[in-house]
Amino acid sequence: MKTTTLFEQGGHRNLLLPDYGEGAAVQANQHLIIDSGKGVILDPGGHKVYSKVLSETFAQLGGGKLEHIFLSHQDPDIVAALNGWLMTTDATAWASQLWTRFIPHFGLDRLVTERLKGLPDFGGTLTVGSVTLQVVPAHFLHSCGNFHLYDPVSKILYSGDMGASLGQDYLEVTDFDAHLRFMEFFHRRYMASKVAMQAWAKRVRKLDIELIAPQHGALFRGKPMVERFLSWAEQLECGLDHLETLYGPP
Ligand code: FE
Repeated sequence: MKTTTLFEQGGHRNLLLPDYGEGAAVQANQHLIIDSGKGVILDPGGHKVYSKVLSETFAQLGGGKLEHIFLSHQDPDIVAALNGWLMTTDATAWASQLWTRFIPHFGLDRLVTERLKGLPDFGGTLTVGSVTLQVVPAHFLHSCGNFHLYDPVSKILYSGDMGASLGQDYLEVTDFDAHLRFMEFFHRRYMASKVAMQAWAKRVRKLDIELIAPQHGALFRGKPMVERFLSWAEQLECGLDHLETLYGPP
């Protein structure tokens, strides 16, 4: 298992760390963006992968500095090991302001709690090295306080659970229709509603996207594949759209 370089230009690199997961824990991707020796780790994960993700992050930074920890939402596969990250680095962690009082229940030391910062609903920007990353709202997809991160240099949209797939054995989607069986159930059951999907699609269509990189499973590379995913997502009935089916027979 090796780190995969998704994009590299000058001092800017977008890295997908090796898949260190195993056993019952859901497969999860850890992404690292490095610009001019400064780094941001995205959704670093839980305790099972913590030490490996941390040491690979330091190895890739090569003496550079981890500036930010971006948390798309509050789930355990994203934030469970946050205390370790804050104790071993000087980085600032960012999550929706809806979650900053809940995440400390994973066990944040008093010394580091003030380095977990809340993002307002509209998102904003994060600067790493010479690059300004956009924090894009993705609320209710699936968490009520949920963000994606867009990198204008690589044109990668880090989409958290949107576009997540489980069970396939490839890194990039080449046949969208064949890929649906690995992501359809997840989106139908975890995402809140078609209204939320459409608001998100409208927002991200304003971005120039070459690659969608979810937190689980395979990547969508190239504008035709990105468009394929967006047009699928915005018409998908999910969550509240078929709430009645979740309650079983009367
Ligand atoms: Fe999640």
